[in-house]
Amino acid sequence: MKKDIVAKGAILQRDRETYAIAPHIPGGITTTEELRKICDVADKYGIKELKLTSAQRIALFGIREEDLDDIWSELDQQPGAAIGLCVRSVRICPGTTWCKRGVQDSVSLGLKIDAIYHAMQLPNKMKMGVSGCMVSCAETAVKDIGVMGTPKGWRIMVGGNAGARPRLGDLLVDNVPGEEEVLAIIARIIELYRNWPQEQRLGRIIEEIGIERFRHEVLGTGE
Ligand code: SF4
Repeated sequence: MKKDIVAKGAILQRDRETYAIAPHIPGGITTTEELRKICDVADKYGIKELKLTSAQRIALFGIREEDLDDIWSELDQQPGAAIGLCVRSVRICPGTTWCKRGVQDSVSLGLKIDAIYHAMQLPNKMKMGVSGCMVSCAETAVKDIGVMGTPKGWRIMVGGNAGARPRLGDLLVDNVPGEEEVLAIIARIIELYRNWPQEQRLGRIIEEIGIERFRHEVLGTGE
């Protein structure tokens, strides 16, 4: 019986025969050239349906297994980490790059986070989001690690998730002054998580030990 092919970023579809792939498009920010290439490859291989995903990618459906290698080679892009125990996605809102409400540069920070963490193997799946203001279009509160711009800097929330048992993230720290400080805190969270003895989602760990102890483990304060 066919299965997902994780190494090729190929997800078996409902027909149990064909696959979907979704190239990695950091922050969903792309160019006409990249889009044309995706469309050209889709036309060449008879891919009739494409879908914009919640992870800010473009999924291509109905792919034959024997075409996967050629399609990836022609796309010349990396697979988005849509499956497996890893950092699945870093959702990024337009922030101060384009949005009139933005108060922080979510695109700059988000792309740095994406470059470091996208597809990193972890004990369980992890989603991240970076919003440029408190309207929170990157759904910061339901990300395992969510970052939100405020007039005073960055707010970091941890342990959020959607899914069958949704959970709102806990406030880890507020008024983080700059990108470097945010990246250092995220690095510490990831280091803790990678070494955690159980393989559960970040929010379950926080439920178990409490946000105060988690904050203490990450920041050395709050307990
Ligand atoms: S979160 Fe704020 S900055 Fe980002 S797109 Fe929404 S309104 Fe604009």
